[in-house]
Amino acid sequence: MLLINRKAALEGGSSDKKEPKNSWDEGVNNEIPQPEEEPTEHKEKPPAPPPPAPTIAKKMVFAKPEEPPKEEEVTPTAWLNEVFTEAVRLQASDIHITPEKEYISVRFRLNGMIHEVARWDIDYHEMVISRIKVIAGLQVVEKNIPQDGRLELIFETKTDPKGPPQPQSINFRISTMPTINGEAVVLRALNREGKILNMNEVGLSETAYPTVSKMMQRGHGVVLMTGHSGSGKTTTLYAALNLINSIDKAIITIEDPVEYRLDGIRQSQVSFATGYDFQNGLRAILRQDPDVIMIGEIRDNETASTALRLALVGRLVLTTLHTNNIIGAITRLLEMKIERSVIASALTGIITERLVRKICPNCKAEALPPYDLMKTFGVEWPEGVKVYEGKGCDQCLHTGFIDRVGIFEVLELDEPLMGLIISGANITELEAYVESHVVETLREDGFAKVRNGITTLEEVIRVTI
Ligand SMILES: [Zn+2]
Repeated sequence: MLLINRKAALEGGSSDKKEPKNSWDEGVNNEIPQPEEEPTEHKEKPPAPPPPAPTIAKKMVFAKPEEPPKEEEVTPTAWLNEVFTEAVRLQASDIHITPEKEYISVRFRLNGMIHEVARWDIDYHEMVISRIKVIAGLQVVEKNIPQDGRLELIFETKTDPKGPPQPQSINFRISTMPTINGEAVVLRALNREGKILNMNEVGLSETAYPTVSKMMQRGHGVVLMTGHSGSGKTTTLYAALNLINSIDKAIITIEDPVEYRLDGIRQSQVSFATGYDFQNGLRAILRQDPDVIMIGEIRDNETASTALRLALVGRLVLTTLHTNNIIGAITRLLEMKIERSVIASALTGIITERLVRKICPNCKAEALPPYDLMKTFGVEWPEGVKVYEGKGCDQCLHTGFIDRVGIFEVLELDEPLMGLIISGANITELEAYVESHVVETLREDGFAKVRNGITTLEEVIRVTI
């Protein structure tokens, strides 16, 4: 009986008084057909008023885990609404809803790091998960197999403080997985309407910016971006495309997936379901008379080989390789059996990027350098040079950080390096040359940002070890 009441709360939650204004029901966009036996969502109100939703009095913790929980009455629908609204407000990239033994843990990935933001009684786990599965069009009864889906939520947000709230659409990729405590759900925000940065906003230093700008303006050659996934490579590539985008240039992309939308360029997304892969995409691009080609990622030697050969016939190719550093990119191309002469003549430059979190300007204060950490990783810091940290405040969810910025290592290929590559130099020889010829190392760029009070020493060490 209790279960029925809970389900009623779940389905009829939209009539609940506590429902926030930004209802996420309205934006539901199911890609997967919903199972017949399961309740379906209605964009319009059903003709008969839904049964009154029983309000569940439960402890609810939100925002500050260290504070004592407040007693509040909330339905799973209202609770989830609050979770989503908060995730959007904080620009969380992922929402993790994980069942523990006695509670449901909600964690957000903010600026690349996971933070727990809420807990709820484990008794409501099933209702919460069912609710999410219903709106994402997943099989509610299937609890022992992983499921994937997508959903779109529409929020009203105030971008202009004086103007009325504007609807903002956020697409999420949703994934469920059975765990020993029940189903865990992760929602990843697909930032289709992400703001494209200008090239001078991504974090390139005054020394690196002219080199990168020159590589982009050259009009031919391959510019490779390397870094872990989530290291800002695509954001930087779009800033670069934005820099060179003009009506007299044919710019075409092939990506998986398209993460930003930029007017004036032809953006294409691979679809493995239909067999439209990077190779097919590249072949199509060639017939589209391109000047600039952006390939989301080079994953195989066929794509690598085509990309480099396109650069040799006068196209500018921007792409990414999933390697950690500059030397890794060269060795990866060699492993892909690309001829040394082709690498040397096609490659214009390689850029490695990491993202560091920026100190929250609202709670920024002078701090002591992290001596233990520095000792462990052999980092020295000149005496008397101040470092800062965020003490934690409401604006940064007590993390001390807001937003992220890139740190970069940039290498422009020059004649001696081309010579080394062609002559069959080994990795050690290449490494020695690269180390002494990069514009600045990741750490040098990072430490400059520490000196300028943009980030912390801990952040730079964390992303460069
Ligand atoms: Zn703060």
